[in-house]
Amino acid sequence: MKTIAERLKTARDYIERTTIDAHRPTKSVQLLAVSKTKPVSDIEQAYEAGQRLFGENYVQEGVDKVQALEHLSDIEWHFIGPLQSNKTRLVAEHFDWFQALDREKIARRLHEQRSPHKSPLNVTIQVNIDDEHSKSGVSPDDVMALADAIQQYPRIVLRGLMAIPKADSSDAQQYASFSNMLALFERLKQQYQTADTLSMGMSSDWQQAIIHGSTMIRLGTAIFGPRQ
Ligand SMILES: *Cc1c(COP(=O)(O)O)cnc(C)c1O
Repeated sequence: MKTIAERLKTARDYIERTTIDAHRPTKSVQLLAVSKTKPVSDIEQAYEAGQRLFGENYVQEGVDKVQALEHLSDIEWHFIGPLQSNKTRLVAEHFDWFQALDREKIARRLHEQRSPHKSPLNVTIQVNIDDEHSKSGVSPDDVMALADAIQQYPRIVLRGLMAIPKADSSDAQQYASFSNMLALFERLKQQYQTADTLSMGMSSDWQQAIIHGSTMIRLGTAIFGPRQ
């Protein structure tokens, strides 16, 4: 069995090589370690190996981990799961990023609940790029309207887009989804200077995501092993 530190090193090496092969600047792709369902001790091991960005999907589990690791103050915590409006306060109070924004109501609540003593909460709009009923996210046609609506809430800042493309699609379909995301992201960047993040790519598809301009890949299984 490989250790978390070894898996992280392997992932970083592959990411760097793929980034160079894609003719993109080194360090232009960040690695988010998705630690959902995994114990605090796994996060500590990854931290020791230099990892600083962590992603959680479930509100209470995430808050418990943030609090348990409060002494590691340079961790950047990303909430990446769907969020019900009655749980927004916990995300506004404990996380640095929320990646799954898909409606204005949630944006308004996060703004109202974010402390003025903290830096604004970073958000990415989740795009339902393959129009799947099982997934949240706005349709590509609605991205610019939501981006515009967010501008009235200064306690949150628009950082870009996030997507979870369909898992079992053909290579051609996967290329199309990633290309469509990149085109949307380019449009968003032209309009909003704060938009610098395209969060796409997971353990099974991150190479294609990097080739298509992803700036943040989210790896769970590849770092921490399979989940139960
Ligand atoms: C679980 C999850 C991941 C990580 O998935 P792996 O396939 O284990 O790498 C990435 N992004 C989101 C939104 C997730 O929910």
